[in-house]
Amino acid sequence: MEKLRIAVQKSGRLQEKTVALLKECGLSFSNGPNRLKADAFNFPAQILYLRDDDIPQYVQDSVADVGIVGENVFVEKNKKVALVEKLDFARCRLSIAVPKSTEYTGTGFLNGKKIATSYPFIVNRFLKENNIEAEIHEISGSVEIAPGIGLADAICDIVSTGSTLLGNGLSEVETVMKSEAVLVSNEYLNKEKRLILDKLIFRIKSVKTAKNNKYLLLNTPNDSIEAITKVLPGMRSPTVTPLKEEGWSSLHSVVNEDDFWNKIDQLKALGAQGILVIPIEKMIL
Ligand code: ATP
Ligand code: ZN
Repeated sequence: MEKLRIAVQKSGRLQEKTVALLKECGLSFSNGPNRLKADAFNFPAQILYLRDDDIPQYVQDSVADVGIVGENVFVEKNKKVALVEKLDFARCRLSIAVPKSTEYTGTGFLNGKKIATSYPFIVNRFLKENNIEAEIHEISGSVEIAPGIGLADAICDIVSTGSTLLGNGLSEVETVMKSEAVLVSNEYLNKEKRLILDKLIFRIKSVKTAKNNKYLLLNTPNDSIEAITKVLPGMRSPTVTPLKEEGWSSLHSVVNEDDFWNKIDQLKALGAQGILVIPIEKMIL
């Protein structure tokens, strides 16, 4: 029987959440730090632990069938692999930063300057799009120290909170791209592997949707049920059951994380009481 070979980062910022996602999708496998690969016990898959930078190449070359990497790495490596699903974690951005004392006047400032980065392909594309001629200085790590030691006038690197930049006396001036973890796939999977992948994608979507939603229970005076239902359409419509106390009901529904607090405020204003919010593990639409 075929197995889907899934490449994941061996260690680093993606590792823990990638393994957690696969486990939430029901795959059980061992994730010892010294392993190169592990078979899932209960799903036709094999996990390969690799350096994230190598994953796009390995997926292109069919060493692995699919892989989980940062979108930044997927774009930078520019391999023939397909992006099949965004995964909602490891969110960060690739940004241009310059020393704080620099008077930055817009992208034109970068003309004729030296930019240090580990992402030459992405930076090159950005410069072309903005009609800028600049010199790219490729370095593989500690990019943020380059301006301080006179190696570059600007950098392009991963930013999440910006505290590393600040600590190095840099300020962020342009966002070049936004990134999150993504599932990428070889473009020529056979039928059997494609079916396994579809199964995995279905599970990933259910886990993602569940994370973006909460199960909500509340008590409401019967006169407010109509109005509350308008605020909370739920998956189909809310479940309403009478309370023992005359004139009151219990109402159950699902709410989206996006406008969650907004909805809670509206529900309170409509007279809802005893609001309980419960995480959802899986949500099948
Ligand atoms: P490897 O040893 O596998 O080559 P690495 O050092 O290249 O790892 P990490 O620092 O582990 O890479 O980052 C992996 C990915 O995680 C990045 O490519 C990016 O997509 C994402 N990432 C990096 N920094 C952050 C951050 N601060 N917040 C969120 N996501 C991040
Ligand atoms: Zn790496």
